[in-house]
Amino acid sequence: MKVLVLNAGSSSLKAEVVGLADGRVLTRLYERIGEDGGGPADHPAAVEDLLGVLRAEQINVDAVGHRVVHGGEAFTAPVLIDDDVVAGIEAQVPLAPLHNPANLAGIRAAMTALPDVPHVAVFDTAFHATLPPAAYRYAVPQAWYEQHGVRRYGFHGTSHAYVARRAAEMLGRPLAELKLVTAHLGNGASVCAVDGGISVDTSMGLGPLAGLVMGTRSGDVDPTVVFHMVNEGGMTLDEVDHALNRSSGLKGLAGSNDMRDVEEAAAAGDEAATLALDVLVHRLAGYVGAYATTLGRLDALVFTAGIGEHSALVRRRVCERLGVLGVGLHDAANDGGAGERRIDAGSGPAILVVPTDEEHEIARQTLEVLDEA
Ligand code: ADP
Repeated sequence: MKVLVLNAGSSSLKAEVVGLADGRVLTRLYERIGEDGGGPADHPAAVEDLLGVLRAEQINVDAVGHRVVHGGEAFTAPVLIDDDVVAGIEAQVPLAPLHNPANLAGIRAAMTALPDVPHVAVFDTAFHATLPPAAYRYAVPQAWYEQHGVRRYGFHGTSHAYVARRAAEMLGRPLAELKLVTAHLGNGASVCAVDGGISVDTSMGLGPLAGLVMGTRSGDVDPTVVFHMVNEGGMTLDEVDHALNRSSGLKGLAGSNDMRDVEEAAAAGDEAATLALDVLVHRLAGYVGAYATTLGRLDALVFTAGIGEHSALVRRRVCERLGVLGVGLHDAANDGGAGERRIDAGSGPAILVVPTDEEHEIARQTLEVLDEA
């Protein structure tokens, strides 16, 4: 069985054909969609080009799995797409005004171009549908939740689910009996407490701006910062929104959103880069400690995504801060090697590096939905 996994952004379309047994069959990335400068005119044009490639390579797909960012409270699991589901995803647009319309453009284009295969929506939020109210409710007026859906939803669910399952396989123990903290540290970053395979807390919130220090996003700030920059800093709300999403995080503190630049500058003695690393590590270690408390025990800490997979420095700095939990790194294993591996010193919680594979997970969930149908 081959699944075409589509991840549609506002001006991009990432397409991968994944066979559960044979891995990546094809990868195509369309960028600058609808922009001057040579990209496809729109999402249907990108999909049309993709179909040409599939035909030329004689690849037949059995299903299409669509990444959808926000499922709100309506979608707590992957679902076969029909008109009602499209309307349901549309209804979540107020919660994800940038992402869901782009995801829908991809869905519409692909369903028109490939009307004879089943299409499944896999939501970034769905893995966190199991959060208890204590973790997902904000202490704001009840009506904000009831009328406007103001609560924690969480994201990167596909990645957290994938690495949690792989971690259990690597440890040779049933996921159902493990208490894990998974740290997805890419350009966007979030951490998740996984109890018996179920997400019980996560650091992102209503949107993906909360929690950890990211490439260009601030992560946690006191909302007073927003009022202050509007009232005292003379900025508009849109400008503050843009600054917190686009020019904060590593970029705001150190001038680059690329961890490799930040590490290099810090090693050369750059104070801003050193501070950026300090803030990132302080915040991440704090979350892991908090989640260990929520879980009541920590069996394993799992690092994934660009920084989690490749930055031995960030892993070492975070683990140094977690000695109180019995966390201890095997330095040589942390510094060397690549790919999936165990890097703890042998006592205390396991520490794992697990390269994430969201496309594989979307393909797996897509086929699971079809099996159940
Ligand atoms: P995205 O969220 O866009 O998929 P990635 O998961 O690719 O992002 O992660 C991007 C981040 O990973 C960047 O900050 C990048 O600098 C960092 N990264 C990639 N390789 C390394 C490395 N060898 N050492 C440190 N950081 C790295």
